[in-house]
Amino acid sequence: KRAVIGLTGGIASGKTTVANMLEEFGYYVLDSDKIAHQAMHDSKIKKQIDETFGDIAFDSKGEVDRKFLGSVVFKDPIQLAKLNSIIHPYVYHHLEHMIASRHNAIVFVDVPLLFEAKFTTLTDKNIVVYAPKEIQIQRLMDRNDFTEEQALERIEAQMPIDEKRDLADFVVDNSGRLMDTRKQLLHMLPHIAE
Ligand code: ATP
Repeated sequence: KRAVIGLTGGIASGKTTVANMLEEFGYYVLDSDKIAHQAMHDSKIKKQIDETFGDIAFDSKGEVDRKFLGSVVFKDPIQLAKLNSIIHPYVYHHLEHMIASRHNAIVFVDVPLLFEAKFTTLTDKNIVVYAPKEIQIQRLMDRNDFTEEQALERIEAQMPIDEKRDLADFVVDNSGRLMDTRKQLLHMLPHIAE
C-alpha cells in the first residue's frame, strides 16, 4: 500500500529545508505552496479574488499582487480566512489529483497549513518540522528581512507550533544544525510507512 506523508511545521521552521533533504534522498515531495502560487494565475481564482478584495488586489498587468494581499491578510484574520477559502479548495483538489497520478510507494506533501486547513484527510501520517518560536523569529528576520514585529505577526497567524507538534506522528527538531536534522530524518525514514 502506498503511504501519503504530510510535511508541515511553523513558518520558517524548516519545511523546505527538510523537503529538499527528502528529495536528495530520492523521495517524491509535492509542494503545496507552488500550487497556491499557480492558483493566483487561474482565471476562476482571480475572479473570486476580484469579487472579494477588489481591483486593489491586482497589479497594472492584471496579475494578483501577492505582496499587497499578504500585507492585508496577515493583519486581519477575517481577510486571511476569506483568501484561504478561495485558495485552499484549489490546492486540495490539485494535490489530490497529483497524489493519485503518482506510483511512488511514499509520497510526501509539504503543506504549511496541514492541520489548520484539515488537509490531513489526504495523508496517512504527518511529520512536523519543529523549531521554537525564538528560532522562527530569528530565521524570518534573516531570510525575509522582517522586523521582529512582522515575524511575530506571521507566526501568530498560525496554529502554535507546540500544538502542531502534539498532532504529529513524527517530529523533526530543526532547531540545531542541518546535519542533526538530516540524521533525525535518516533514523525516521525506515519507520515512516509502517
Ligand atoms: P516557510 O514557512 O516560510 O515556507 P520553511 O518552514 O519552509 O519556511 P525554510 O525555508 O526551510 O523554512 O527555513 C527557513 C530559513 O531558515 C531559511 O533561510 C533556511 O535556510 C534557514 N534554516 C533552516 N533550517 C536551518 C538550520 N537547521 N540551521 C540554520 N538555518 C536554517
